[in-house]
Amino acid sequence: MPTTNKKTIHANELASAIQCPRKALLARTQMMPPILRPDHHEYQRMLEKLLEKSGLQQGRVNDPTSRSLEILKQDGKGRDLRFEAKGLRTTIPVMVKKEDGTYKAMYPICSTAPKENLLASLFIDTCIVELCGLQISEHEFLYLDKTYIRQKEAKPEDFFAFQNHVKKMHGGYYRQSVDEQIAAMRQLITPDELADLAWKVFRTPVQRQRARHVKLCTSPSKCPFYNECWGVDDLPDNAAPLLSSSSSRNEFEEQGIYTLDQIKAGQIEGTGLQYAQIQAAKNPDGLFMDRPALQEWMDELVYPITYLDFEWDTFALAPYPGMKAFGVLCFQYSMHIEHDDGRLEHSVYFSTGDCREDFILHLLEEIPASGSIMVFNMEGAEKLRLMQLAEQFPAYRQPLEALCARMVDLSVPFETGSYYDLRQRGKSSLKTLLPLFSKHDGYKLLDVQNGMDAVFAYRKASSSKDPKEKEQIAQEICDYCSMDTYAERELFLGLKKKLEG
Ligand code: SF4
Repeated sequence: MPTTNKKTIHANELASAIQCPRKALLARTQMMPPILRPDHHEYQRMLEKLLEKSGLQQGRVNDPTSRSLEILKQDGKGRDLRFEAKGLRTTIPVMVKKEDGTYKAMYPICSTAPKENLLASLFIDTCIVELCGLQISEHEFLYLDKTYIRQKEAKPEDFFAFQNHVKKMHGGYYRQSVDEQIAAMRQLITPDELADLAWKVFRTPVQRQRARHVKLCTSPSKCPFYNECWGVDDLPDNAAPLLSSSSSRNEFEEQGIYTLDQIKAGQIEGTGLQYAQIQAAKNPDGLFMDRPALQEWMDELVYPITYLDFEWDTFALAPYPGMKAFGVLCFQYSMHIEHDDGRLEHSVYFSTGDCREDFILHLLEEIPASGSIMVFNMEGAEKLRLMQLAEQFPAYRQPLEALCARMVDLSVPFETGSYYDLRQRGKSSLKTLLPLFSKHDGYKLLDVQNGMDAVFAYRKASSSKDPKEKEQIAQEICDYCSMDTYAERELFLGLKKKLEG
């Protein structure tokens, strides 16, 4: 059985093993797929400027512990200090010696609030440093101040705030300080015991580390090893574990329930979508359609129908005036306009840099003055983006709010269970649905195939100095966004046909 042969365990790996040991082991032996994180270039730049001011001597990559100890001996403070003991290693971002000879550690975090899941990493760091003969007695987070609205002239310190409490996962801060919480953890386990335990976990063959249903499997996003653990991709379309948002999913097998049609009403939460899934499994054609609900939804539509889709990027630190931490900037839209006589028009917009006002102006000029605006998942996406733009550019608030009022969400019939096809396998994204309604599954033919690709491509276009490359990337992103609005139209027409049939 293969075991990991890495010689050290990083504090972050150990912190991850506390949440799910299997995930930590798999991540050590396999390539992790890329994750889309907010753009943090500006965050890094401002943080660097801020730390530069402190004049701290900086550790280097692969420094031995002895060099970090030397820096601290010389200056009593330092940054990016590496420590290793008993096979555990970590880097402390900032350390400053206190009068009593112990140290204060400061952690910059790319977030608007330090959360409780950071406690494990901090405790592990404290233990590693203790094994190296030093004591950290005070902790502080340097985090992004979410109330700060970027001004034209901004200093690095404007963006950051300090905190030594962590936020609970479900909101609200712990009354105890981080130092008090870490001191309490230290009563439970010594650094030596922690190191022994860590190696016990990391020397276990992955195959012996059984998958357990934990929050991390699906939250904050689906674990990259989900299929490896639960084999969901190999299940038949009517399999009971494909029931949407069900907390009972893991107990079905023990109860002898293998298919959706075996599930009884009292055994689940009973959402509209769950009901639709169970009914579809009972129907020979694998379909469920709530005709009255669908008809009611369709009756609200007014021509011309504008199928609209935006692409955007999120910035950890506000790059332009009027934006806040983790603000969003729309760089692309596509709209297909369908008139009641069947005429179809199409237009796209793409730009880089601070294109917010230009985006608004083009959108307002090109979108029809009346009719329904069809979007997919409007509340957390297009509608929210327009409301944010209205906040930043109050002069356009009224026309932007008017667009929001005309929006109709195409995801609603699928999310609420007015329509379910067993081939959806519990999913209801545009990409899952398109092949069920259209022979033209164009996503596979595109260079940019999903929203994450689009953001990575946009970042490449933003930093490219080559106009030809920029143009090429812009075209690829436009093709992707246009496919989204094309897919929206295919879905709508498909639903309409099903209803008429
Ligand atoms: S899917 Fe769940 S059990 Fe499997 S590795 Fe991920 S978090 Fe762990």
